[in-house]
Amino acid sequence: MTSTPESNTKPLKGIRGEALTFVADPFLEKGKKCHRYWKDALIVMQDGHIVDVGDYAEVAPRHPGLTDIDTYTDALIMPGFIDCHVHYVQVSMIGSFGDTLLDWLDTYTFPTEAQFADKDFADENARVFFRQILSQGTTTANVFATTFETSVDAFFEESERYDTRMISGKVLQDRNLPDSLKDPSPEESVALAEKLLRKWHGRGRQMYAVIPRFAPTCSDRQLRLAGELYRKYIDRGVYMHTHLDEAPGEIEWVRMLFPDCKTYTDVYRQFGLVDRRSVMAHCCIVKEEEWQTLHDCGCGVAHCPSSNLFLGGGQFRYWEAKQRTRPCRVGMGTDVGGGTNFSIPRQLGEAYKVAMLQQKSIDAERCFYLATRGGAEALHLEDTIGTLAPGFEADIAVLDLKPTEYAGWRLGFSKSIFDKLFVLQTLGATSLVKATYVAGKKVFDIDRAEKFRYAADL
Ligand SMILES: [Zn+2]
Repeated sequence: MTSTPESNTKPLKGIRGEALTFVADPFLEKGKKCHRYWKDALIVMQDGHIVDVGDYAEVAPRHPGLTDIDTYTDALIMPGFIDCHVHYVQVSMIGSFGDTLLDWLDTYTFPTEAQFADKDFADENARVFFRQILSQGTTTANVFATTFETSVDAFFEESERYDTRMISGKVLQDRNLPDSLKDPSPEESVALAEKLLRKWHGRGRQMYAVIPRFAPTCSDRQLRLAGELYRKYIDRGVYMHTHLDEAPGEIEWVRMLFPDCKTYTDVYRQFGLVDRRSVMAHCCIVKEEEWQTLHDCGCGVAHCPSSNLFLGGGQFRYWEAKQRTRPCRVGMGTDVGGGTNFSIPRQLGEAYKVAMLQQKSIDAERCFYLATRGGAEALHLEDTIGTLAPGFEADIAVLDLKPTEYAGWRLGFSKSIFDKLFVLQTLGATSLVKATYVAGKKVFDIDRAEKFRYAADL
């Protein structure tokens, strides 16, 4: 445990209450304690970072100058949740009646995204998106914008106001979609992506991703140029984010479009898009050789269970992704608007059902690991976010252990913290989060008159 350097005069801030965090992967470390749990913890923050964590009785005496402490009862303090795959540009179309993935894209998604050429529309959607995710305790997300510069600027501008650590970028797509969304040419689209990358990557907590939507909507030339852009900036922490192996119809389409490639993963690999900062959404119907590639390259995988169920494509198999001989980095994704809500805990309830449909079960320890530290690992940020420990960024969610009268009563019958969390993810309360801290500032407070506040106002 570190204490405050003498030279740092920035004020200390504390959060006190029951707390839980993960320190290792419970899919791989059977029998080992993968989490830390405190009945009465004190988390000490300074200048956006955690500087001390532990039992209140031990930690408090180390910080005699700490007087500003938020104390929570009937609550659980956790690292902020991490959403590894979401489309902020689809907030206005959640719950659209659908058919197959490809029909649903044509009917709802593409017309909605076309409206983001209008900056005011993009600004409004970004505002709504951040309020939704912050009210659900999500503090980092890996986010699709859409074709237009306006869609990227609107997103990062709002993220800057909250000082959230976010990953996003312009979506590259130059074929098999309406003209209103289509990039004018591979060269122009990738030049625009590079311009936005140079504008936003590393500005405050913002990070950029090169985002080919998915192989069927990108020409060979665009995929090749996207791969070159990614490789040019990968050492500076730029990401590649796309969809992979989601649904049978999609996989068949890719096979017809790229007949020379052995697998869907191979399509991305041949264009230089499969590497250590690549994040693949879905990965439901994956061949063994593809898992091996994703493992070997250190790719992140986003499990989006409510989308699996809503769009009825494929169903994620965590036991394949986490096979002990070649485990992959896996986190959770809401995949809004294919996913049906913004809550990572509710996704965990759906993850359990997706597994049970395939005669497997997944417990709350593994679920909440995926929601926090697992997500950070999928994004290669496991030394920065996703854990309550000194040196980590102070992104924190405070869960309500009495979100409804019934849930509070029901939890009275649960013995361990993981029994309680399993009940909570199963009941799926919509107001599960009391407060959300971003870089140490309480940007969401369910009990405050002004529930949401920008970082500069705090
Ligand atoms: Zn998606």
